[in-house]
Amino acid sequence: MLDGFAVSTPILCAMHSERDAGWRPAFFVSSDSTITTGMHAADYIRLKRDGGHLTDAQWHDLIERYTRGDIPDYQMSAFLMAAFLNGMDDTEMVALTDAMLHSGIVLDLSDLPGRKVDKHSTGGVGDKVSIPLAPIVAACGVPVPMISGRGLGHTGGTLDKLESIPGFSTSLSIDAYRKQLGEIGLVMIGQTADIAPADRKLYALRDVTSTVEFVPFIAASILSKKLAEGIDALVLDVKFGSGAFMQAEKDARHLAETLVGVSDRFGKPAVALLTDMDQPLGCTVGNWPEVAESIALLHGDAPEGLTEVTLALAAEMIVAGGMAATNAEGVVRAEEAIRSGAALERFKAMVGAQGGDVSVVEDPERRTSKAIAADVHAPEDAKGFVARIDALAVGRAMITLGAGRRTKEDDVDPLAGCTLLKRQGDPVAPGDVIARVMASTEEHLEQAIAALRGAWSFSESSEQPASRVRDRFVDGAWERR
Ligand code: URA
Repeated sequence: MLDGFAVSTPILCAMHSERDAGWRPAFFVSSDSTITTGMHAADYIRLKRDGGHLTDAQWHDLIERYTRGDIPDYQMSAFLMAAFLNGMDDTEMVALTDAMLHSGIVLDLSDLPGRKVDKHSTGGVGDKVSIPLAPIVAACGVPVPMISGRGLGHTGGTLDKLESIPGFSTSLSIDAYRKQLGEIGLVMIGQTADIAPADRKLYALRDVTSTVEFVPFIAASILSKKLAEGIDALVLDVKFGSGAFMQAEKDARHLAETLVGVSDRFGKPAVALLTDMDQPLGCTVGNWPEVAESIALLHGDAPEGLTEVTLALAAEMIVAGGMAATNAEGVVRAEEAIRSGAALERFKAMVGAQGGDVSVVEDPERRTSKAIAADVHAPEDAKGFVARIDALAVGRAMITLGAGRRTKEDDVDPLAGCTLLKRQGDPVAPGDVIARVMASTEEHLEQAIAALRGAWSFSESSEQPASRVRDRFVDGAWERR
């Protein structure tokens, strides 16, 4: 036993008929069980297996010892599954977040001027928003320290996209990260070994033990990384639909409420937008193709849905950063940063500072033309109009092409991706070119084309896309947008 102190804990009984409600307490039964910190790992497993509740100190002890390597993966796997099946209450979720957050360094950026604001998206197909968003917001005077992830499965990752810019480095030291934030108000890197190391280990374990889809784990994982960045406020883009991590809208709402609630508990005000990811966002999916589309957005030339989501999130960040009083004013400021070229200049400054080739930002076609391209033709039943492009099917086709990865060890092809030429509401006839695929080699082109073609569905009438941004969750309540 380590520093054992006796506590009496209630036993949590959770409803499990619906997975999304898994962490919510259905009722509490008081217990006189006496438990201590520094227990054997098997005792923690037993406690959770039997529906028990860990104290704050016990969560810290468990996570600290696991991060150090003192608790082996096989015991942590059993613990994760016990928690997944038996649920966690919100006190435990906050304690887990805190333990994961403090498993590494927690940056303090308070010596740098301005309120630092970051955005986290739960990810989706064609979701390149971070790339234009961060320089827009920075150009409006709000410092953006952004730590992003790689793509896994059908959703892409900001780091893979940024690294498709030749020379661009996403692994800066913490000192370089701070310095760049101070100098140009914008830095975009990957998670370092020092930031929330418990999450790295736990996420890998959850991935192979089928314990990813559990709101308390997801919230602790996302927020432990974001809160370690040294931000003052957080804007969340929580997506639902076929291309999203949480496909059902009610699950996405639940995740949004949870993330905002936990972030608030850590004194970091958060707001969440609920956005539709049933169809790919924008006209491109993949690595360099999405960077090229982001550059087009910074020139004021991007499809409606992508621009809508980017401006809505920019406005939230600009308000959170104290540079606008209302969201309407925030949108005006963001549009002005695009129109004036200030956002594009900020992006170029970041690319240059992180070792990237600025000339491809100035002339994206130079890089695009390096890819091998092939057209995708509409099938025989393509009569009338495009009804929908299934985001999940597009995401899977892009994995086949090499733009995404099946396992964490896979490499991605920086040039791989596609441009969607016929989108919802567009007229279409058999044989029309509906998309173009790009890659560094021909190896997977045919297979990807066949997979991609299946993403389109057609109808006799034209239905125009609805707004992508649905509701907004702030101060404990949903607002319709
Ligand atoms: N993204 C994360 O960072 N963690 C999760 O658990 C799920 C999505």
